[in-house]
Amino acid sequence: RAAERAQPWARFSPELDITHNQDTLELLAELNTALASNQLSLHYQPKICLLSNSVLGVEALMRWQHPERGPIPPGKFIPRAEHSTLIDQLTAWAIDSALAQITQWQSMGIQLSVAVNISTRNLLAPDFADTVLALLEKHQVDGALLELEITEGAFMLDLDRTVRELTRLSNANITLSIDDFGTGYSSLQYLDALPVSVIKVDQSFVKSLSKTSGSYHIVKAAVDMAHNLGMQVVAEGVETKTAYALLSDFGCDIAQGYFIARPMPADQFNSWYQDNNGRFRPE
Ligand code: C2E
Ligand code: MG
Ligand code: MG
Ligand code: MG
Repeated sequence: RAAERAQPWARFSPELDITHNQDTLELLAELNTALASNQLSLHYQPKICLLSNSVLGVEALMRWQHPERGPIPPGKFIPRAEHSTLIDQLTAWAIDSALAQITQWQSMGIQLSVAVNISTRNLLAPDFADTVLALLEKHQVDGALLELEITEGAFMLDLDRTVRELTRLSNANITLSIDDFGTGYSSLQYLDALPVSVIKVDQSFVKSLSKTSGSYHIVKAAVDMAHNLGMQVVAEGVETKTAYALLSDFGCDIAQGYFIARPMPADQFNSWYQDNNGRFRPE
């Protein structure tokens, strides 16, 4: 106990993959405390159907309000947590909270799906699919209302195992999507090998989308390719009316971005949703 107080990060060390500096060890110890003491929350960003302009669901994005240091963005702590088993607890917490939110909305008469980001490292935990399925059972939520967004990077870790875990989730009607498509270690091979049904085109291609941008042809080709594979396409980082209109012309299925709304705490999302009657007017 005394040793643990003196070196609060010590309990992580057996499970750490890489040598960390003191900063990272402290951050991970604080993140462990954050999990146990309500410093984490989810913000929700709407996803809009480009055919009907209706809100189909939301992406859940993790927020950490540190008692002394204020808000710490996920880009700062998720990549570090991914090098320790703490990422498994963070993901389980996020899915648990997202499912609780789905039932909360259902009690208000609102039917929305929630997409949770997962790390490819999660897919290597032997009980990942079991954990997710148990959480669906706990909340009595239909798998069809849950989506898992996987960032492409680490599929290579163990493809067979990844396919096995993902297939169990897909059999439970959970939607699986590839996040940040077109960046990182992305390989087109995975589109065929994995039971994914959605690609999220990375925001770097979408942000500055116009008829004269190079991204125009990339996004258009990604939409055509995905549709030929029987998959749906989400464009993230939609910041302008021009991008929204072009994506709609391309036949892109779903749009998400600051042009529509920023990620919001649940109560703020609820006001936004009710003010807009569950629809977005791109005017
Ligand atoms: P992501 O999954 O690609 O999420 C989209 C990010 O883009 C979010 O940043 C969102 O706030 C931001 N965004 C949305 N629309 C726009 C836009 O129009 N313009 C711009 N400039 N940005 C936009 P955020 O919330 O900072 O999250 C960053 C990344 O951290 C996420 O990227 C995701 O990879 C990771 N992350 C967030 N929450 C979780 C989580 O619960 N678990 C895991 N494993 N990763 C998470
Ligand atoms: Mg995402
Ligand atoms: Mg992601
Ligand atoms: Mg992304």
